Amino acid sequence: MASQVFFMNDRANSLAESIKFKAVKVFRDAGLGELFLPGDWVGVKVHFGEHGNSLSLRPQYVRSIVEEIQRLGANPVVVDCTTICFNEYSSRATRTDMLRTAARHGFTEETLGCPIWIADGEFGEEEVKVEIPHGVYLTHSYMGRGLKYLDAMIVVTHFKGHPMGVFGGALKNVGIGCGSKRGKLCTHLLNHPLYGIRNWGINQQAAQAAAQAPHPNGIDRLMKNCPFDAFRWENDTLHFDREKCQMCAACFGPGLFSGILQPPPEIMLMWAATIPDAFAGYVNAIGKDKVGYVTYAVDMTPWCDCVNWSDKPLVFSLGVFASKDPVAIDMACLEMSEAHSAVPGSKADELGFAEPGTERFTNCAGFAGVSQWAQINSAIYNGLGTSEYELILSSPVTDDTQFWMKPYTPENPWGWVHRKEHHKIDWTVEPYTHRDLQFSMVDMSVKPKGKVAEREL
Ligand code: SF4
Repeated sequence: MASQVFFMNDRANSLAESIKFKAVKVFRDAGLGELFLPGDWVGVKVHFGEHGNSLSLRPQYVRSIVEEIQRLGANPVVVDCTTICFNEYSSRATRTDMLRTAARHGFTEETLGCPIWIADGEFGEEEVKVEIPHGVYLTHSYMGRGLKYLDAMIVVTHFKGHPMGVFGGALKNVGIGCGSKRGKLCTHLLNHPLYGIRNWGINQQAAQAAAQAPHPNGIDRLMKNCPFDAFRWENDTLHFDREKCQMCAACFGPGLFSGILQPPPEIMLMWAATIPDAFAGYVNAIGKDKVGYVTYAVDMTPWCDCVNWSDKPLVFSLGVFASKDPVAIDMACLEMSEAHSAVPGSKADELGFAEPGTERFTNCAGFAGVSQWAQINSAIYNGLGTSEYELILSSPVTDDTQFWMKPYTPENPWGWVHRKEHHKIDWTVEPYTHRDLQFSMVDMSVKPKGKVAEREL
């Protein structure tokens, strides 16, 4: 049976059409409020964005959902788990750093209107093991322990590309995001006995090239970033003491992006499968019928919000989706992103995938040329939902007074609340204009001279 996916686009000419209130409306239309009861603790799963990323989820997109959960009498709490330390300046790999990064991106208890839980502790070591009964590859993983105290969860996602999952939607927000640090290592297979970092190859040519740069060069930084001193530079050669390696992944980013560390090709092909596998374990631990999904398909960059930059979006923003089915909602985002032309000048345009009907994420986002459908098919295999969906075009609320900023209400509008102060303010004004415009509107409408030259610095 097809699942229902509710959608509204991102056009707006009124308060009710603001995308953050459209999100509330599709939340209601999808019946996500039925997933919890008054008094329940409801996690709002987000991704705060890595330091340097500028197109990740906005706090105001989350606040409107938080307020809707509060309106229904439940206790929302914004949740996430620490990341693996995948570069030398990881900004979310400890609870303290993650809260700092969240605050820099505007996510605080004050801006969200509810507490924030980093659910796997300061160093990601607070976890519970979860079984994955019917995974494509994983048999178990590890979830942030705090998540098990939730009665329900609303997954608020920014849809975009992802180098491993090919796309990053609701499945990825949970499948990677709800993992403790060890859970994330499992999902990425970085601690796998066969494919894990301990068994990765070394490209000595790349290492020697890195060693030519002034200190501290890529080799210095790689060695120093390994907490277990597994790397040594001797006789113009990078030595890797594999016995010392604990597969913590601190070398993952610097090693992979520089080409010094060489993962086996198999690992890249499996990531799209392990994400839905882990998702199954995490969602089953919380309660499969207790999790709902709201996805903002805006600013759809080729890279995930885990990277510390944001490329130009591949396609223009679409709008906001809601569903009880994580597979259907991701499928709807993928299909709609295919249906439109690419953003001129984007990576999709540059690589020749600008025309409608092209698989933007398959061709522009994944590391290894894996299909964007692999994650969807793995999720179906796991029994997480269906790719068949009915797209239901929602419409904005008719009474937008419910979204007025408090304390203003139709009974107490701003001018009424502040009428006493109005009487104390001096409203008089001395003449402050010429008799007429001194420069005609006709002349003002003529385009003035612009660029006179262009050059590289
Ligand atoms: S122990 Fe060192 S070499 Fe092993 S994964 Fe961690 S940082 Fe890399």
